[in-house]
Amino acid sequence: MKRPKLIAGNWKMNTTVSEGLKTLDSLLVGLSQMTPKAQVAVAPPFTHLSDFQKKLKGTSICLAAQNVSDKLNGAYTGEVSVFMLKELGVKKVIIAHSERRQYYGETNDSALEKIKVVLKHEIYPIYCVGESLEDRESGHHFEVVEEQITSVLYKLSEEKLPKITIAYEPVWAIGTGKTATPEQADEMHAFIRDVIGKRFGDDLGVQMQILYGGSVNAANAASLLAMPHIDGALVGGASLKPEEFLSIIKAAS
Ligand code: PEP
Repeated sequence: MKRPKLIAGNWKMNTTVSEGLKTLDSLLVGLSQMTPKAQVAVAPPFTHLSDFQKKLKGTSICLAAQNVSDKLNGAYTGEVSVFMLKELGVKKVIIAHSERRQYYGETNDSALEKIKVVLKHEIYPIYCVGESLEDRESGHHFEVVEEQITSVLYKLSEEKLPKITIAYEPVWAIGTGKTATPEQADEMHAFIRDVIGKRFGDDLGVQMQILYGGSVNAANAASLLAMPHIDGALVGGASLKPEEFLSIIKAAS
């Protein structure tokens, strides 16, 4: 089955608005000179969304956010709701990134609540899963990822699943310069398809869009993206360098 490819840039807490707009301009110039085969998304900080929405009007780049509240409105200081994102043209949102799990106490339960909220309001979640170095070294990586899938996605109804993108991001590979080998990544992606298949049927397992994330760069993108179960990449550091991000986009054929 040919699944659509997605290359999504997670800018994390980097760039001011003016710096971000310059980076976006360079990216747009580069993209105007090519016909990307993959869908491209950028997830800048919340502060950038309004200006980015204006710049991206009429382009094929999808605007994404890095997080969202599970609450709709009210006394939740510091939170940003799905309605606020929707008004700014956000189409996708990263949920339960490992940095959110590690530093802000996000869990599988909170991920489930957030996924339910965004789907209800027609924003598409990119749900992040992945094991720690300790999990991998102790041979528990499949178990950990299975739990992240079953305790969240098994609790949703079948028709919701095709609206979700999964990002497999081994924590030990994020921002470390260490990348999973294409074989390690592909093995986990195939495993995730099996886990989805067990509950929802093999067709749905095969249909899910699963990205790899963890130190993807211009040098390793082609070999990762050539793997049969890898449908794109969630790119952190390299997405802030337009030339490099464009090379990653080119590698997705
Ligand atoms: C990420 O932020 O999701 C990520 C994968 O970061 P990096 O590419 O920098 O490892």
